[in-house]
Amino acid sequence: MVNIQSLVNQERMTEEVTTFDESLQQLAKILIDTLHRTDGVGLSAPQIGRNERIAVIDFQDDRDPLVLVNPTLLKYYGKSVEMEGCLSYPGIYGEVERPEAIRIEAEDEYGKTFEITAEGFEARAILHEMDHLYGISFTQKIKTRVDAETFEEEEE
Ligand SMILES: [Zn+2]
Repeated sequence: MVNIQSLVNQERMTEEVTTFDESLQQLAKILIDTLHRTDGVGLSAPQIGRNERIAVIDFQDDRDPLVLVNPTLLKYYGKSVEMEGCLSYPGIYGEVERPEAIRIEAEDEYGKTFEITAEGFEARAILHEMDHLYGISFTQKIKTRVDAETFEEEEE
């Protein structure tokens, strides 16, 4: 069992994955299992203390979890501002501006290259995880910060 770590003041650039072996496939599985113990939709290697450029996304619907190795942004369109939080920044929420729609290229845990298009909440979740892989904290992008109590009241 792995714990999710705080990344406050600890975000750093990950290393590009060049070997698609069993240990990478095991890491993808650990990330998915760890994500499933939370109510989050995405988790990246740095959040469990690893330095490989890999993140997983699961929208908790009938699609399989998405494994993103070495993801890169190909295109982006539009702008949207929505509330975000992060498993590695407990209690911190804020409005973050991101593109409305994206097209990315990535590899899966077996080294197969693919492209996907995402929009809205899904694009936001993918971009948030990609930021972790490039050492960028979502708190750097917060326009209006909301504390946990206020956020929870708004949710009710
Ligand atoms: Zn995060």
